[in-house]
Amino acid sequence: MTDCLFCKIISGQIPSNKVFEDELVYAFRDINPQAKTHVLIVPKAHIESAADITAENSAVVAHIFEVIPKIAESEGLKNGFRVITNSGPDACQSVHHLHFHLLGGEQMSDKMA
Ligand code: AMP
Ligand code: ZN
Repeated sequence: MTDCLFCKIISGQIPSNKVFEDELVYAFRDINPQAKTHVLIVPKAHIESAADITAENSAVVAHIFEVIPKIAESEGLKNGFRVITNSGPDACQSVHHLHFHLLGGEQMSDKMA
């Protein structure tokens, strides 16, 4: 998708602070961190949101959840972490390219909404 911010970040058209990359996944630091560590993990393929995960494209989601522990370890999140994805207006999704927020590095609220 040509007009997608995260597609532009993945292609290098827009700069980012890269944390991890492989053939399927790109991870970078959130520009407006909401925890001491705040990394965004995105599939390189454009998927709009969690509402658009299907049997045909879900393998990349499984792969993301294999990558998350590696990033958590390299970020030193020994005491735990939180993974969030916002889907649609009720969840305030602002970038319409599926992404998982990896948050940690400090004690977080026990409230999630
Ligand atoms: P969401 O609100 O769940 O769609 O999350 C979008 C996230 O993208 C927010 O946490 C923003 O701070 C982050 N964001 C927006 N633009 C950039 C950017 N250029 N580089 C890194 N993170 C960004
Ligand atoms: Zn995209």
